[in-house]
Amino acid sequence: MSISLRGKAPKITLLAGGVGGAKMAEGLLHSRYGDNLTIIGNVADDQDFHGLWVSPDIDTLTYTLADQIDREKGWGLKDESNRTLDALNRLGVDTWMYLGDQDFATHIYRTEQRKLGVRPTDITSHIARQLGVETPILLPTDDVIQTRVRTTEGWMDFQSYFVKHRCEPLIKDFSIVGIKLAKPTPEALVAIADADLIVFAPSNPIVSIGAILAVPGIREAVTKSQAYKLAVSPLINGQTVKGPADKMMTAAGYSCDLFGIADCYEGLIDGLLVDQQDRSAVPGLAGRGLDVLATDTLMHSRANKIRVAETLMHLYESRQRQNETGQQEFEVHQRNSSQPLSQAV
Ligand code: GDP
Repeated sequence: MSISLRGKAPKITLLAGGVGGAKMAEGLLHSRYGDNLTIIGNVADDQDFHGLWVSPDIDTLTYTLADQIDREKGWGLKDESNRTLDALNRLGVDTWMYLGDQDFATHIYRTEQRKLGVRPTDITSHIARQLGVETPILLPTDDVIQTRVRTTEGWMDFQSYFVKHRCEPLIKDFSIVGIKLAKPTPEALVAIADADLIVFAPSNPIVSIGAILAVPGIREAVTKSQAYKLAVSPLINGQTVKGPADKMMTAAGYSCDLFGIADCYEGLIDGLLVDQQDRSAVPGLAGRGLDVLATDTLMHSRANKIRVAETLMHLYESRQRQNETGQQEFEVHQRNSSQPLSQAV
């Protein structure tokens, strides 16, 4: 079976945050569709720690695709040690942000290169290439943008909220410092314009995907792109697999369900891959004009990730066929994970 009716592998651009984004990236990369994959990652979680510029979401993507990730945590490098943090601790430094010894090298290199004036996009590519990652990992902007969260305990940077305070304080508001003046990178704009398929990873729609889309010019580029656009829901049965996306959606005024996800991406997406536990929402979402498929979206193993990626591509191919033959191929998709793809429509 050819990958696409047009006879060429579709160019896929993935908008991705950290852990959820990296799972989707790994699935797509190791699927039949991995050769034409480009990733645009989130930089609004970046922050200075101990004088070093740390870029958690970009590093999670890079380490995952390099197969160097700590599989248990979903972030950080495998076989890590923490002697540097212990030594900092001895000096009386507050070390709530976990940074492993090998991971420090990435941050030292990034900081040094930034000080030399090297573009953050080029630094990211260099680190990825050195780790053996061939998939382009692009930045939405080379400028510094940083998410801040207003909580019941006042304004705090994102990592303080996320790591130090374990997402406990109630969120009242968000802002992204530096966003108004940020410029999109030409590489990201080209990847969006040239894509056949844009995938919104099952990442936090507010602070991961939302922060990528907030870079002036990026949302407009996604809207204008002729690509088919699909999101994978980060919510399963109204809950996040990990992290505060549910609390953040509620704070931002969205309902914490599939309709809230569709609202976050209103006017941007053509379809949505939802978890089979949420299949009761499928007719309602289809009624909003979305192509919808329900499947098991929980990704633990690489095999799971590939299966989710291939199910997503099934939705893409069905739409391609429907566009090219003019024949109504599907209205509402429902599939459970044990069913072969051929029975999905
Ligand atoms: P972060 O920056 O590390 O928080 O990561 P992301 O923004 O990329 O992803 C966070 C979101 O990923 C959370 O809302 C999770 O619910 C979602 N997520 C993580 N693992 C999975 C998974 O296996 N399946 C689905 N559907 N969502 C997931």
